[in-house]
Amino acid sequence: MNKPKNKLRVGWFSFTCCEDSTVVFTELMNERWQDWKRLIDFRHARALQTKNVLDEMDVAFIEGAVSSPEQAEQVKKIRAKCKMLVAIGSCAVTGLPSSQRNQFDEKTRQEIEFILARFNHLDQVQPLKEFIKVDAEVPGCPMDPDKFLAILDLALKKFNIQL
Ligand code: SF4
Repeated sequence: MNKPKNKLRVGWFSFTCCEDSTVVFTELMNERWQDWKRLIDFRHARALQTKNVLDEMDVAFIEGAVSSPEQAEQVKKIRAKCKMLVAIGSCAVTGLPSSQRNQFDEKTRQEIEFILARFNHLDQVQPLKEFIKVDAEVPGCPMDPDKFLAILDLALKKFNIQL
């Protein structure tokens, strides 16, 4: 009996953002779903499936910025479970545009103060690298699909997944 093929164990996660990079990611599947089905074991990807787990991953892709202590804890948990972590899109890489409130003037800031308190938000919205080590970045708002595919190819090679 043939040994089952090794697959790349992948997680896709979204934090404070509009999830447009997730839309780009699912659009890429129009052409690539057959390859990805053969090569990738999606451990966590809420846009693709209802059954998701946070367990050992080769690569975790994270879009969005970090805006609460709960999110900061969650990204640290993801970091601990993956061998390679990729920031997806401008919000994850630089914080912006999700972190626009960091630049609010004092008056506007006071107006939103009760919302920050009610939802236990951090004082500042921050990019992933402020909380965890990031191994690679895919810039763009939303992400640049060619750069994403190049990093995915790199990961397939790095983890010896047979194409
Ligand atoms: S980088 Fe742009 S597309 Fe991606 S989550 Fe942020 S605002 Fe949305």
